[in-house]
Amino acid sequence: MTTAAYVHIPFCRRRCFYCDFPISVIGERAFGETAPAINEYIAAILQEICLTPALGLPLKTIFFGGGTPSLLSPGQVRQILTQLEQHIGIEPGAEISVEVDPGTFSQAQLEGYQTAGVNRLSLGAQAFQDELLQACGRFHRVQDIEHAIAMIKNIGFANWSLDLIAGLPRQTRADWEFSLKAAIQYQPTHISAYDLVLEPTTVFGKNYRPGTTPLPEDEVTANMYLMADQLLSKAGYDHYEISNYAQPGFRCQHNQVYWRNESYYGFGLGATSYLKHRRLSRPKTRSTYYQWLATLPDSLEEIERNSELDRWLETLMLGLRLKNGIDLNHLAQEFPQAWVESLIYLTKTESKLKITNHHLHLTIPDGFLFSNQVLGQIWNLEERWALANLG
Ligand code: SF4
Repeated sequence: MTTAAYVHIPFCRRRCFYCDFPISVIGERAFGETAPAINEYIAAILQEICLTPALGLPLKTIFFGGGTPSLLSPGQVRQILTQLEQHIGIEPGAEISVEVDPGTFSQAQLEGYQTAGVNRLSLGAQAFQDELLQACGRFHRVQDIEHAIAMIKNIGFANWSLDLIAGLPRQTRADWEFSLKAAIQYQPTHISAYDLVLEPTTVFGKNYRPGTTPLPEDEVTANMYLMADQLLSKAGYDHYEISNYAQPGFRCQHNQVYWRNESYYGFGLGATSYLKHRRLSRPKTRSTYYQWLATLPDSLEEIERNSELDRWLETLMLGLRLKNGIDLNHLAQEFPQAWVESLIYLTKTESKLKITNHHLHLTIPDGFLFSNQVLGQIWNLEERWALANLG
């Protein structure tokens, strides 16, 4: 059952120093219909939606991610939604999210998104200190965040998320505490608190090493993680995923589809779709994506299925990110009993891995904090088991 769609909008005003996403830097003025590159790309997305076999059920979640989707005009968002509606269908009340970056949109634009059907915004604030924003190459400043939030509130968007990043160069514990408290004060319904990841091809990846100056030491970043858990939980946010917190009733429905390893459509360059156990990644530049569109396979059956072992490992890696973890009954229906038993056995020696109400999950906050370590153990164990059993 596929009821989720991701649409990738790859344009950004500049490239942030930590970012290795598939994007096109389009300059500081390009926007909406006035930018030929954006128009051309929207036409390609509309074509891809049209060429994709619809699997029967209307969409319950749609997520415009990027890049900077707020470089699209309301008319362009509407065009894409109309194409999805006509080709696949959209369920009434579906969660329709758009990522928006401070300093890239107006109130009239947000009102236009809302009229087009958008009912959830995700604001990339990242930090509440101008020096930190500047040091990571962000386009916006704190004043832009404040203005963006005022617009979101004026319009009365009932469901909106705010993103923060921990572990930035020269970020102190006090900076992080200030950013968390500022976020709480604005009362978004959802907060994402990510740890900086050093990707090798980025400015940061080339210049910095984890845990060494000017990046905070590992002990400090661990402390920041625990601080987020403590402050946000105390403020009424449910720590429902390793990096995500929500007020009651406001978990991100779309992202939960990924974490449950369920299927979803993907549209646009660099996007991945996961349909009928087939994961399909699109090329990461505009020109290669446009060429790829011309050769899109007619049928999903032409794409190789993910192996059972891949699906098993993905299901564990993704599902254990969730507070609720993974339903063991569901695992037992999908995968060999011996694999499930090996997992249950691991809970006897690994205290950060628990079973509650027949769900396998990490403990909070320690299991979440050391999730890589626990997942590494599972990975080794499961790979050995699977290879032995498959061989
Ligand atoms: S705005 Fe987002 S997608 Fe664009 S460069 Fe910065 S981090 Fe990457």
